[in-house]
Amino acid sequence: MMKTSKKKESTNSGSRDDNPDANRAEESELCPGFQDVDAFVKYGLGAVLSATKASAGLPQAGDEYDFYRSFPGFQEFCESQGDKLLHCMSQIMQHHGCRSHIRDRNKLTGLEERFDLVVDSNDVILERAGILLDEADGVNRTQNPVMPAGFQPPKIVVSSWNRKGSSSGSRSETFRLLHAKNVARPQLKFKEKVDNSNTPFVPKIFIKPNALKPLPSYFSNKQIRKERPEDLDVPAALADFIHQQRTQEHVEDMFAHPYQYELDHLTIPEKLLSKPEPQMYKPMAETKLSFIDSLEELVALNGKLCQLPEFAVDLEHHSYRSFLGITCLMQISTREEDFIIDTLELRGEMHILNEAFTDPTIVKVFHGADSDIEWLQRDFGLYVVNLFDNHQASRALNLARHSLDHLLKNFCNVNSDKRYQLADWRIRPLPEEMIEYARADTHYLLYIYDCMRAQLLESNHGQPGLLQCVWNKSKDVSLKKYVKPIFTEESYLELQRKQKRSFNTQQLTTFRLLYAWRDKLARQEDESTGYVLPTHMMIKISEELPKEPQGIIACCNPVPPLVRQQVNELHLLVQQGREMPLLKAEMAAQKKKGLTTIKKAEVPLFGPHDTSRGSESGHPQLVADEVLVKQGVLFSEEDYKMDVDEQKISSLLAPAKITLFQELETPAGQRSLSVAQTKARSIIESFENPFRMYLPSSGAHVNKNAKFDPSSKIFEISKRWKLQSAEQQQKEMEVKKKSKEEAKQKARKLSEERTKAKQSYQESLRNIASVRQQATNSKDGGRKKARSGCEDGETTPKPSKKLMKSAEKSQKTEPPSEETFKPFDYAQSDLKVFDGSKAKDNTQFDPNRQAQDFRKKQKFPQGQKNNLSSGNRSMSYMKGKSERGFRHNWPKR
Ligand code: AMP
Ligand code: MN
Ligand code: ZN
Repeated sequence: MMKTSKKKESTNSGSRDDNPDANRAEESELCPGFQDVDAFVKYGLGAVLSATKASAGLPQAGDEYDFYRSFPGFQEFCESQGDKLLHCMSQIMQHHGCRSHIRDRNKLTGLEERFDLVVDSNDVILERAGILLDEADGVNRTQNPVMPAGFQPPKIVVSSWNRKGSSSGSRSETFRLLHAKNVARPQLKFKEKVDNSNTPFVPKIFIKPNALKPLPSYFSNKQIRKERPEDLDVPAALADFIHQQRTQEHVEDMFAHPYQYELDHLTIPEKLLSKPEPQMYKPMAETKLSFIDSLEELVALNGKLCQLPEFAVDLEHHSYRSFLGITCLMQISTREEDFIIDTLELRGEMHILNEAFTDPTIVKVFHGADSDIEWLQRDFGLYVVNLFDNHQASRALNLARHSLDHLLKNFCNVNSDKRYQLADWRIRPLPEEMIEYARADTHYLLYIYDCMRAQLLESNHGQPGLLQCVWNKSKDVSLKKYVKPIFTEESYLELQRKQKRSFNTQQLTTFRLLYAWRDKLARQEDESTGYVLPTHMMIKISEELPKEPQGIIACCNPVPPLVRQQVNELHLLVQQGREMPLLKAEMAAQKKKGLTTIKKAEVPLFGPHDTSRGSESGHPQLVADEVLVKQGVLFSEEDYKMDVDEQKISSLLAPAKITLFQELETPAGQRSLSVAQTKARSIIESFENPFRMYLPSSGAHVNKNAKFDPSSKIFEISKRWKLQSAEQQQKEMEVKKKSKEEAKQKARKLSEERTKAKQSYQESLRNIASVRQQATNSKDGGRKKARSGCEDGETTPKPSKKLMKSAEKSQKTEPPSEETFKPFDYAQSDLKVFDGSKAKDNTQFDPNRQAQDFRKKQKFPQGQKNNLSSGNRSMSYMKGKSERGFRHNWPKR
């Protein structure tokens, strides 16, 4: 590269005047040695690919690595290369103005933090690239508005299922969106309305097939679930109290994984740990395909699945025009047939598949099930017992890439066409191409499952260890729990932190207000936050603080429909921000002092299997304790110790006095502060408590992170780094042998228990009208879909808001932080919008209509390359971060 550019330089300098062509060529070069972006990208991708290949060729963590490590030459080589790499990364990070202490590599335990640094820097760099691409795209954008406002162009994402990967295909190929202009909102048809309220997710299950442990009464007893304080025939205050007391008994159940017990006691039968004979898939053309959109068909399918030893599953999802995201399609493949289920149509009935999905004797094969597991719970109350995740297998095999299209190529020699991955899956009727696409996603999975099991055994000299490990990893995936994005007063800080911009007080206040506005509106209107107001526009408005409403519009290109609609409201928020005294924001101040946050481990309420969803939407869920530490100790092995000053301070702190379910009473007068009071308050707020960063946790910035989540990538890596000694491994082998025998006995016992449980389940089924019976009934009743005789028309149990609040409190075990400004009090917001049809008087706007009007105004030539890119990115991806490395970038997972 250097050489070519030098050559050119010398020729040019000699002939500058007489050879205008050469001059032009030089001028038109993007950068030395590269004619244009394509050339540069091609070169870059080639380099990345060979690096990836090389790294895949390194000795594997574990035995292999340990062995190599015993050679001093290898050790030295690793050290020096490692240093070089870290230095290089450090420089890149510095160049982008990121924290870059990656090289202080004295201690191994710093790995998580370092990994975090890398992830953060990637976020920053990609975000920046996104914004620049956006700007470059700006001109096009105006003629290209169908993809609703404010998408950022796709960022190159390294993700397991980002199938085109970085090696092939152009952007437009990777992310082509088949977009219908006017897709009816499927939400309108949902019998049970979506619960966007700012309360934690409670499982939707109310009947538990294949139970070893019965479903807690909270779920099985309709009365408890439905009970609301207002139903009690006592004075309101007392009713609330009684309700809280009663619900309190169920808190633990409400947030547990309904199949935790069954999964904990799941043992993989011997047969599945021995070498399989791969069973070739049937050619797609010769395979029967059924499209399932009625209850009868679904019931029949469930019956069929229950007879099989295994089947493959995948989902398609939409996340742009919905707050939480919607599962639009389920694909199922058996060895003989393919099925496509219209989950928009059958949303309320999908739960009947639990009979097959939770049957421990039936293997469910997925590829990269992390999101699927959460979507199944969130939308259908479906759980998976006995999962095999091909993606996990691919990782265990250390294949060069783990995407489905790579596996397809590798095992089936099928070139997949992934153009529709990001299509708008709400479209009905589904175009032929999309059906074919969806079908191919599961059609080959069982064969790949066979092949990979065989290889896992082969690569481990016939020993089942590695295969067992994949089963365990898969089980961890199926133990994941869906966690709803929760808005807290500090959510915005998490997002702001990622922007790596320092805001002054006015800007930060505006950002906070916009963030709250966006969150509230997105929940109310059931739109993604990215649809309401994309983050980069929110930042632009906060930075510019436009004096006029028109200025807000000018910050957005194209203007999101809801921004246009509520521009006056937004203008008021900006004005409010501008009224802040102009001071250096506390964030900036903290940075200066060299402080950063370190997160403490898991949030107990949600257990270790949650991935938290930091993200664009950046809602931390429940607040984990945080400790602020000096950056200098980031990579230190020693636990952070308070210094004397801090100890003094913390001893000054009053101990937390929280009683469970005690409400934070806001004095009535406080609700309506006078202008002067507000100002005074904001001034006080703007003075940072100089000791704040030393305080243990109160008022610490909300932040939750999957870093300590055992299912997360980082955890896995750090585990791998903790090298095991050979003896240790030997010992483990012996223990394993013993426990294997025990396990056999246990398995026998379990299967007895299971038969018993099955019987009792059958009995319980007899009590309610059986699903099949319902199906027949409903056939007569003109396709009337009953969820279950007794459950029809029921709404999701909504935990009382107070209860949730106090549950949070009890978790945090920290004193309620000083009342700060509350942008929105959800208690006062009209929650009716969540539990049924929209309030009739809400004529303010119809987002759908808006979007259409908006589209009409602007031409969208058909077939034009659209920004689909940015399209359907769901907030639900955020969670994917643990799995996929890049946490906060879209399209991220
Ligand atoms: P898949 O498992 O590959 O079929 O993907 C399932 C769903 O995940 C798709 O329907 C998309 O909604 C979503 N998805 C897949 N890939 C991406 C991506 N790169 N960015 C955002 N969303 C994605
Ligand atoms: Mn999938
Ligand atoms: Zn798929």
